[in-house]
Order: sequence, then C-alpha cells, then structure tokens
Amino acid sequence: MLTDKKKVSSQALRALENQYGAHNYHPLPVVLSRGEGVFVWDAEGKKYYDFLSAYSAINQGHCHPRIVKALQEQAETLCLTSRAFYNDQLGPYEKYVTEYFGFDKVLPMNTGAEGVETAIKICRKWGYEKKGIPNGEALIVVCGQNFHGRTTTIISFSSDPDAKGHFGPYTPGFVSIPYNDLPALEAVLQAQGEQVAGFLVEPIQGEAGVNVPADDFIPRAAELCRQHHVLFMADEIQTGIARTGSLLAVCGDCTCAGHCERQSTYVRPDILILGKALSGGAYPVSAVLADDEIMDVITPGTHGSTYGGNPLACRVAIEALEVVRDEELAQNARRLGQRFRQRMARLVEKTDLLVMVRGRGLLNALLINDTPDSSTAWDLCVALSHNGLLAKPTHGNIIRFAPPLVMTEAQLEECCDIIERTILEFRK
Ligand SMILES: *Cc1c(COP(=O)(O)O)cnc(C)c1O
Repeated sequence: MLTDKKKVSSQALRALENQYGAHNYHPLPVVLSRGEGVFVWDAEGKKYYDFLSAYSAINQGHCHPRIVKALQEQAETLCLTSRAFYNDQLGPYEKYVTEYFGFDKVLPMNTGAEGVETAIKICRKWGYEKKGIPNGEALIVVCGQNFHGRTTTIISFSSDPDAKGHFGPYTPGFVSIPYNDLPALEAVLQAQGEQVAGFLVEPIQGEAGVNVPADDFIPRAAELCRQHHVLFMADEIQTGIARTGSLLAVCGDCTCAGHCERQSTYVRPDILILGKALSGGAYPVSAVLADDEIMDVITPGTHGSTYGGNPLACRVAIEALEVVRDEELAQNARRLGQRFRQRMARLVEKTDLLVMVRGRGLLNALLINDTPDSSTAWDLCVALSHNGLLAKPTHGNIIRFAPPLVMTEAQLEECCDIIERTILEFRK
C-alpha cells in the first residue's frame, strides 16, 4: 500500500498529530495504517486484534469487501446532490432501513451526535404540537453517566465534568435521573409528566463502562413512558446493529435480527437513533427512525443537513446492513460474547487485578481493581498492545472489549489467551 510513498515511522506520525492537531483525544501510542476484518496493522507492519472497533462502528470488520465495493461503485457514480433535489439512492435506502428496523419513516443524518440532536428536536416539536405542552416548557428526561455526543446541547445534560466544563451557558430543558432507577423515572413523570416530552436513554451505557441495567429497566421504563404519553427514545448508536447479540439492545434476548417474531420481549422505542455501524465504518451515516404520527412534525425547512441522505451514504448503509443479516453477526456476537465472559470470569477468579467482567454480546468490560485515577488500566492496555491486542480504558479503571463481530471462535479463544497471559504477567 505504501510502495510509492516514503515510509514514515510511528514516532514521527505521532509527533505530527501532537504538534498540528488539537489535543482533544489521548490515544494509545499505536499508529494504525491498515485494517482487514478483525485485524489492524501499525505503520511498522505489526498486526493487532482490534478490540475497540472504532467504538463499535466496525461491527462488520475493517474494510469489508462488500461495503468497500458499494462505496467504490457509488463514489464513481454520484456522491452528493444535497436534498435540494431527489436522488436515486435515497428512496430505496429509506424503504430498506425502515423495513429493516420496523418504522414508518427515517430522517437521515451523518454523525451520531447529529442523530441525537435530531431526535431531541423531533421530540420537543412533538411535545408542543401533539402533546400540547406550552411552548418553550418541554422537558426531556436523561440519565446520569450518559454519553450521547459532543454538541453544545448534548453536553448540557452530560454529568462528565471534562465533557461539560467551561462550555456553558448550557441548553435548558433536561432533567437527569440516575441510570437504572425506575422509581426516579416514575417520580419525575408523576411530578412533571405533563411537561415531559421524552426520555432519552442508552439501553446499555457504553462510554460509562458497559453499564448493563437490570433486565426489567428498559421494558418497564418504556411502559412508564407510554403511561405518561412520553416518547421513549433509544440511543442505540453504540449498542445497536448486532453489537449486543441482537439486532438492537432493546430487543433483549431476542435473536430474530430484524424480523421480530417474539414481540413480547421486544421493546419498541418511539424514536430510535442509529449511527456508527450503520455504515460499517466506511462513511459517517446516522439515522433517526420513528412512525408517522411522530415524524410528521418535521416539515420542509424545519430540519436538514447538506450531506444527510447523500447517495454514497445510502448505498454504503444498505450494504452494511445486508452484511449484518447475511453473516448473522447478531448470532455470532451472542455466541462469542457468552464464551468471552465465561473465560474472563475464570480469569477474574485467578487474579486480584480484576474485579469483574460484565456486558452483553460482544460489548463487554473488565473492571480493574484500582482507583479511576490510577494508571493501571492504561498500563494494561499498553501491555495488551505489545502482545497484539488493542483495547482502550474508559473512565480510568474499566477496559472495554468490543471486537468486530466477524470474529471466529478460534480467534476469540486466541484473544482470550492474550488477555489472560497479559493480565497474569502484569506487574503494577
Ligand atoms: C458514539 C456515540 C454517540 C455520538 O456519535 P458521534 O458519531 O461520535 O457523534 C452518541 N451516542 C452514543 C451512545 C455513542 O456511543
């Protein structure tokens, strides 16, 4: 790939980012230059298992040949028209994605944060025009430790001081309750339900450290929302599209991967937000899905995006979703996830370094037995990278493990061996 370019060392490439880029991330000291399936290679050619998958954007694996082919073909044909005109890819994509997830309509955007912003706008407008909330008084209930993106409005309801500090004044209209706390949700809805337009929630909190709620939290929260005429909005940007062993995390233990036969276990959000793996990592594609009586509050001029719904995004997203279905990635994530947690649970018993393993499907985390401000989890991730496996700490003492869902069982066993060896050899 680099034959006609001068090869630049990892160290020099890191120095460039450090000198010319804003310091808004703190990356592990690894410079990646190629990816294929579950593997990535650094600038020196060292091979790694990717256990972050770009925060679950690469569920289909790096550079999936079908997705790359769709991208190439469409890139040579038509990339962007804007929504000032119709294009020949958008309609077929909208039909495909709404049938795939079972909603009347989709509003196409690009990044996850834009998807969340879009959902908030739809929800508020629905609150005024359909529910009859007095103008300017709508509330949206959110959860502590949430992660929904980085815009000014979204960080206004973050509980993370780094994400929020000195970015005010903040957007009002949000009420925060503790995650996984049904009595708190019920109390807010009882006290202020007439003013509440929606409840925005991650079915599993990924960035907070793969925080898995009680089994009944999501179904009962959705039921409370229904009782109080409040929109239940699921942010499945990280948990969706097969990551947790079902098509969506709100599907719980249902494996139907789209065509749901077990409606009883399926919690259907009023508004569903998708991003990340919707394109398999090839292109930024996000989407907000809802039924007509909600989506029809959006009329010409009320919302939009120059790139939203462009032909390239539409082509790529269809292919990315086809791959998920054809390769049965939800089923694979479920099977491998059970094995991963089984092996990690055994490891937790063998060492004082680990507190527990938790997660669902292939979205899992190991809790490290040290304080959040210690460097232990970071040092462990550096050691893992030396042994050929890339993972990243979240919230200081938690390591998330989220490989591409195209992994084989043999590869997973090898990865568990690497993690086990690294942890048992690790000295603080
Ligand atoms: C990543 C993420 C977002 C934001 O997506 P961006 O594409 O980074 O804007 C929002 N919600 C959740 C749950 C996420 O994991």
